[in-house]
Amino acid sequence: MLSSGKSIMDWSEQLAQFSEPQWAEKNQLTCTYLTPAHIKTAAELQAIMREAGFDEVTTDAVGNVVGIYRSAHSSTDSQDSCVPVKTLLTGSHYDTVRNGGKYDGRLGILIPVACVAELVRQKRRLPFDFEVVGFSEEEGQRFRATFLASGALTGDFDPTWLAQQDADGVTMKQAMQTAGLSGDIADITQLKRDPSKYLGFVEAHIEQGPILCEGNLPLGVVTSINAGVRATCKITGLAAHAGTTPMNMRQDALLAAAEISLMAETRARQDDGSVATVGQMQVPGGSINVIPGECLFTLDMRAPFDHQRDALVNDILAQAHVIAERRGVHFDFTEVMRASAAPSDPQLQQRWERAVQSVGQPIFKLNSGAGHDAMKLHTIMPQAMLFVRGGNRGISHNPLEIISAEDAALATQAFMALLDGFQTDLASTK
Ligand SMILES: [Zn+2]
Repeated sequence: MLSSGKSIMDWSEQLAQFSEPQWAEKNQLTCTYLTPAHIKTAAELQAIMREAGFDEVTTDAVGNVVGIYRSAHSSTDSQDSCVPVKTLLTGSHYDTVRNGGKYDGRLGILIPVACVAELVRQKRRLPFDFEVVGFSEEEGQRFRATFLASGALTGDFDPTWLAQQDADGVTMKQAMQTAGLSGDIADITQLKRDPSKYLGFVEAHIEQGPILCEGNLPLGVVTSINAGVRATCKITGLAAHAGTTPMNMRQDALLAAAEISLMAETRARQDDGSVATVGQMQVPGGSINVIPGECLFTLDMRAPFDHQRDALVNDILAQAHVIAERRGVHFDFTEVMRASAAPSDPQLQQRWERAVQSVGQPIFKLNSGAGHDAMKLHTIMPQAMLFVRGGNRGISHNPLEIISAEDAALATQAFMALLDGFQTDLASTK
């Protein structure tokens, strides 16, 4: 099984060779939805899946790469073909943030791919179909449609997204058509999965935080994924001469945004587990000698429970309006993502616990501060996640993100143990 760790490291490098031009020049990885680099990544992922021995590998209407390893019943022998075979769903995303890491998302596709490669090597079939999805979009970078890929599987793809434009004025529909997809909502609607056909959804993911690394633990079992809200905000003030306008007569949009950012920080720090981040801020058409008349910024707010998240968001919004009013500017808030907290399904979580134990590791439980595709699937089927330790104190959304081949191998072993656990249980209930 150690070779699986090496395969995962190699595949990660193979996928990381496709980056968008201005980042590729600097040897940085950026792979946002349906850009040429993203399309090449999908093709490479397809090739990796085929090579591993999946029975079917396809790209669906939103660009997800879907590999299916058929069960013993639905593949070779036809004796049992009347028995409805269920499917275990897994996967993670292959898009990245700008200048991101090689393992965020991709690791959760490549670990189950390594499992299939191992099953093929052992000439083994499972008593259920195994479906591995490389989700095309999770990071919300190019369009304001975060989780559109896993959302397509849960019936949450918003048809109005197709008309949404990226920073260059390209609509999502155009981007889809350029990538060879139909861009037709009817095709996207069909991607919705029927939960009655599934055993559930499991996802492996790099932790993206320091807890496992600091605790010297290779694997962690996720108990819940934090609730979150993301918004784009706009402050409208008044552009004016930077030399002639007295300080007390200004409607400076940037300073209002700055004050709101600091307020959000202060408010989030009052809670246990809440976080608030302004990740982007710009003054469109700004000049060195002009008071900013407009400022655009983003807000990302998360908390372990829905009610805590709601209180955080409501307080920040209310105080932002107070700040805007005092500064004589206008504050607009557009919510672009709202996700409920997603506690793990107790039985699936236990399966991960047993799997982790079976590979000689202690059961360490933690909740996820990051959002994941699992929180989307959570809305229609049971889900549970496994975290894999990141090196460099768990840094992620950063090129310093790293894992070890040993940890990748261990995670693959744990995933195999999870599959074996299902196999044993399904056999005993027959
Ligand atoms: Zn991720």
